[in-house]
Amino acid sequence: MATRTTLVSVTEQLGALNLNGESHAQEQAQTNGTHGSGHDGQGFGTLAVHAGQTPDPVTGAVIPSISLSTTFLQRAPNDPIGGYDYSRAGNPTRANFEEAVAKLEKGTKALAYASGSAATSTIINMIPTGSHVILVNDVYGGTFRYMTKVASQNGIEFDFVELTEPNNIEKYIKPNTRLVWCETPTNPTLRLVDIRAISTIIARYNSDPKFAPAPTRDPPLPPPPTPQDGIPRITFVIDNTFMSPYNQNPLTLGADVVVHSVTKYLGGHSDVVMGVAVTSNPAIYARLKFLQNAIGAIPSPFDCWLAHRGLKTLHLRMQAHERNALRVATYLSSHAKVIEAIYPGLPSHPQHELAKRQQKGFGGMVSFMIKGGKEEASRFLSGLKLFALAESLGGVESLAELPSQMTHASLTPEARAALGVTDSLVRLSVGVEEIDDLIGDLEQALVKV
Ligand code: PLP
Repeated sequence: MATRTTLVSVTEQLGALNLNGESHAQEQAQTNGTHGSGHDGQGFGTLAVHAGQTPDPVTGAVIPSISLSTTFLQRAPNDPIGGYDYSRAGNPTRANFEEAVAKLEKGTKALAYASGSAATSTIINMIPTGSHVILVNDVYGGTFRYMTKVASQNGIEFDFVELTEPNNIEKYIKPNTRLVWCETPTNPTLRLVDIRAISTIIARYNSDPKFAPAPTRDPPLPPPPTPQDGIPRITFVIDNTFMSPYNQNPLTLGADVVVHSVTKYLGGHSDVVMGVAVTSNPAIYARLKFLQNAIGAIPSPFDCWLAHRGLKTLHLRMQAHERNALRVATYLSSHAKVIEAIYPGLPSHPQHELAKRQQKGFGGMVSFMIKGGKEEASRFLSGLKLFALAESLGGVESLAELPSQMTHASLTPEARAALGVTDSLVRLSVGVEEIDDLIGDLEQALVKV
């Protein structure tokens, strides 16, 4: 009884706090979004700290314990006491993390996976052999690899399409198109895709009865989803890794599924590899939940706990990342040894207006082209002392890398050239260190070029 009273009072306290994050909304005056209104009248920071974190009803522990048990007690066959039966199918620590991410992404449900790539492959597994997928052309290298080397083996067709002009997509939509996959901003050239515009085009096809018949094949394709199934004919997925839910909520702009490499900003400390998918569509959720269990690419309870711990400071970290990234981008854009600095928060970015409209902030990723080629870029990267020369992004520490040799090495030279991933393009994940130290490090390394 005492425990129950404690729980009720914690919930009441939360309600009474009614923090709505308005002060942060004011700080974000330069962008078009607000973090002030979350679910249940709570703002982003409040949800980040409290969602999925009900104190333990038995011990009163404010931080729920990590649930390591692989199996769960049942009252009678198929009547589990707490709703869990086996930890691959569902786990309390994982469920806490999933609940928190669903709320932050303004979705209803989330599902966690062993990595961002596991989330990607599980989503692609939703569609049958013979389906066609449209992806933005500068998609994450691992997603490119999965489509070209794995999904292709399973009879999935695909097109990589330049989507900075949204209408381009219409040239590629086919009767067997089942999925559209975008990232925005893209990696590493930070181009934007207009999520609302693409979702409007997809919705038009999804509701067009003339577009219904599937192509005849041998063996024939399974019938396309119907509105009765609840899964859209073409499902629209956004990889929101670069923005994090703090800066962009694609579900509110018409996307059906949001996917994250939790390894990046959500975890935020470069110590856990994990992925997550979020949706508000019950039929998509049911299918992805089934696949989460059937394929089994689930994260460990400890990883879920670590990622959830990171999530609680997402709002604070994203503010610091953005503050530093804007200063770094501004510094680089006027440096004599830099041809071009790319950051959606700079007025010089060709899609700056779209960034202000679609995003609530500009994030922590900055790319730039050094004068010269591979040699000069390598000299700069080897000369860095504070920025670590390493793949990945989104952690509190600043990282630098050369996409042509590292993250995007799996692309053909022609594909890299078409995307503008030149030998001198450097990508920075700007961390949360002191800005003067970061700029000092860039300066001393540029001197060596
Ligand atoms: N999506 C994006 C945008 C990424 O940058 C990455 C990894 O770098 C992934 C997905 C894959 O995530 P993971 O490395 O967690 O498998």
